[in-house]
Amino acid sequence: MVFGIIDIHRIFYVLGLPTGELIKILFEFFIFTLITYMVVSEYTRDPRRELRYLAAAFGSLSFHKLVSSVILTSVLYGGLGMTTYQYYFYLMSHVMEVFALILLSHAFLFPYISKGRNKIWKASIFQTIILAFVYGSLQLYGLYEIFSLSDHHLTQANFFGGIVFNIMEITLLSYSIYTLLSITKKKGTIRSTAIAFLVYLVGPCLELVNILFFGNSNASLLVAHEPFPLMAIILFTRVIYLKLVDKAYLQKQLVHEKELGKMKDQFVSTVSHELRTPLTSINLYAGLLKDGQLGTLSKKQKEAMTVIKDETKRLYELISDILDLSKLEHKKVSLVMNYFNLSDFVNNTICHTLAAEKGIAIISTLNSRFLIWADESKFKQVIINLLSNAIKFTDSGGTITLSASRTWGEVSIHIRDTGRGIAKEDVVKIFEKFYQTAYYMTRKEKGTGLGLAIAKELVDLHGGKITVESEVGKGSCFTITIPQPKNL
Ligand code: ADP
Repeated sequence: MVFGIIDIHRIFYVLGLPTGELIKILFEFFIFTLITYMVVSEYTRDPRRELRYLAAAFGSLSFHKLVSSVILTSVLYGGLGMTTYQYYFYLMSHVMEVFALILLSHAFLFPYISKGRNKIWKASIFQTIILAFVYGSLQLYGLYEIFSLSDHHLTQANFFGGIVFNIMEITLLSYSIYTLLSITKKKGTIRSTAIAFLVYLVGPCLELVNILFFGNSNASLLVAHEPFPLMAIILFTRVIYLKLVDKAYLQKQLVHEKELGKMKDQFVSTVSHELRTPLTSINLYAGLLKDGQLGTLSKKQKEAMTVIKDETKRLYELISDILDLSKLEHKKVSLVMNYFNLSDFVNNTICHTLAAEKGIAIISTLNSRFLIWADESKFKQVIINLLSNAIKFTDSGGTITLSASRTWGEVSIHIRDTGRGIAKEDVVKIFEKFYQTAYYMTRKEKGTGLGLAIAKELVDLHGGKITVESEVGKGSCFTITIPQPKNL
């Protein structure tokens, strides 16, 4: 056990020597280059901003290690004096490290700060400017000595630089750790990133203590400082690896889910298709039976036949809707565009009869020659779907108003009702397949939950959009907007 500790101590002691330092830097260079390569290749496949910043951060760390290893090699094997190295490259090495840390901390924080993303990058530019300014001032101060104007300037510049840059590193790392730890929904990678930053933090803290209290010459502190950057690098590598693997896994899941969805849709459409033929016969015979054409029925039998006929009709409608939607979703529908008079259609639609039966008035404010450029039958279907919903969800005595507005290259049709309205949480969902609000359970009129999904697909096909504004208890207003030829 004791031997073990001594051996480990020896390893770190060797790492503290110039040759050990070179080995360590080369190792770090290798790892950082590898991570940069991994991130860049991921970026080429999926160009996300986060990956670009991570690549820049690891690229600059890798560059820092490359420069350091070249300089240290010339010190060890090329006759460049150790003192010269310590004197002239100490600040440069620190600056490069702080710069890489600025990039690194922001790259890791970026995905978790949704609101202040631009702020975060402004902050990193600001920090880089400060860094360049401090470095420039210290270098100028140091250069003073080279021109033999005064002694000890280099030593002092290095001393101050050591303090300032270590404080910068400590601040940056602490800020990153604090921000990561204050994220409420912590994923595993967030915790691992915070730990990596924490381990990294030990190095600058020890160096700062060494500079302030021992003139940066305490060998034990130098040696103790050694394992931490390495450990932090290994932890960062793990985080990046986990991030990439996690993404690959999610992608695989997504492909799998897409395939499942496709199979499900195909299954539903095949089954629906097969059901349509027998349903047509059932509907026909139920009609004949109900009307007494195949023999007289008792009152009770007639009632039963009425229910069978109504339910068959509903099932038939549902199946037709499913098939329509399936065709639309699989882009098997094309548009036949022409001009038609929307006003004529609205004034003569069957919806007036349905509305009148329920005591609802449909008012159209459309100009009598309101022409529209669209696929006539499909656009009419959208209007019918919206009007029949408005009738369904408005109580007797209510009004439905149809109006339109035209702007350059676009037309908007508004269908406003004074019905029961749609709750805020439902508004985003009503265009989904089979979505029906809770009110559905209590209402008399049954639907399929597909009317709006079909309307949306049809409007999308026209290159337009469908929106809704609604207030519970007051009513809803559906707006369809589609592009129009500019000369209309
Ligand atoms: P459904 O066949 O149920 O009408 P839709 O897709 O047409 O299916 O509509 C989905 C749901 O959106 C309806 O069940 C209803 O809850 C809500 N909805 C649609 N239009 C209106 C409206 N004009 N007023 C209130 N709720 C509506």
